[in-house]
Amino acid sequence: MNDRQAWLTLNELTVQHTLDILAAILPFDGSELPKLDRTTSLPFNADTAWNICADAMVARYPSLAEEIEAVRAHCVRDLDPDVSNTTAPFADYCSLTGLDIVSCRYQQRPSDLLTLAHEFAHVVQNYCSRLHSSQDGGSLAAPVAREACAFLGEMNLLDSLRATESPLFDVLLAAYRADDHLYFALDAADLMDSLTDTKSRAYDYRWNYPIARALARVVRADDNRSFEAALFTGGSDAAGSLAQFAQRRLRAGSPLRSIVKSRAQGELLTGYEALGMVAMLDMATAGERASQSIDEYFDRWCILSREHEVLINCDSVNRPSAYAFRSRSVNGGALAHEQYEPFGDHHKLQQSFCEMPADVSLFVCSPSEAQDEQRIG
Ligand SMILES: [Zn+2]
Repeated sequence: MNDRQAWLTLNELTVQHTLDILAAILPFDGSELPKLDRTTSLPFNADTAWNICADAMVARYPSLAEEIEAVRAHCVRDLDPDVSNTTAPFADYCSLTGLDIVSCRYQQRPSDLLTLAHEFAHVVQNYCSRLHSSQDGGSLAAPVAREACAFLGEMNLLDSLRATESPLFDVLLAAYRADDHLYFALDAADLMDSLTDTKSRAYDYRWNYPIARALARVVRADDNRSFEAALFTGGSDAAGSLAQFAQRRLRAGSPLRSIVKSRAQGELLTGYEALGMVAMLDMATAGERASQSIDEYFDRWCILSREHEVLINCDSVNRPSAYAFRSRSVNGGALAHEQYEPFGDHHKLQQSFCEMPADVSLFVCSPSEAQDEQRIG
């Protein structure tokens, strides 16, 4: 078995699934990346940074609070390693001392805090997998599931900063987006080459990153905390649940491909078209709404569409990829009421749905569409 096949088998992926996931994130458009100010210094030391990461994890997974608190208190951490003999940041477990270890340099840069959140999540997963996974003595997650949990940790940090309206949210988001370029432009292209090359290539740990980051976002879009917590506790079972989850999500795009192809960008949809697209996204991805009875689903649609605009976002090949219901706030701004995006960046979506968007691939179905000439694009 060559390295590529061994890697796919370990992560319970196939070449086709992996290519489909890459197709959902590629081509990566780096032109919108916000300018990263590398001189920004965060106003707190390493201990505070550690606690911020721990708090963000507890806020997201109250069911794992005990485990997360154990990591917060007992993990051996070296946040100022000697750079001359340390390579990349890492999280590990010492079987001699029975302690988790984390090593990463914290120099108060926004990217350092993201890295710390990433490594903290690794430790939580290692700890929980030893404690809870179905095998005796625990088992370790395969690398894609492992990195997906670490990326969920980064998103927990961002989400908690956003929820508390922290002024640091924007700088952290800029650092996160800069990493997108690394994972989605560089690593994804390299993985694509490795999968399509007729000659087998040597395994590179970086193959895991673009798939894991894409899947972490898909998982987050579903907003199912117990599923996420199960990835942290699942050990070697996490790879299978993640791969199955991804397979279901990938069904979302294919039957929808031709629906909007012939439409001019920015054209208004009729309510029937919008309902069709929203329902297809819900059904194909088997999220919580897909299991509602048709009565409940219809009632929800009627209530929401009476008072909200329905926005449908399309991906680079014009497939409906996300939707949101949007209403006007009292002071004239816009509020995304409910949003759903199986593949993609929910921070970006939230922003583009809340601002009056200039995004040309956004379709609008307003409740008063007959009279309303509102048009995006
Ligand atoms: Zn990692």
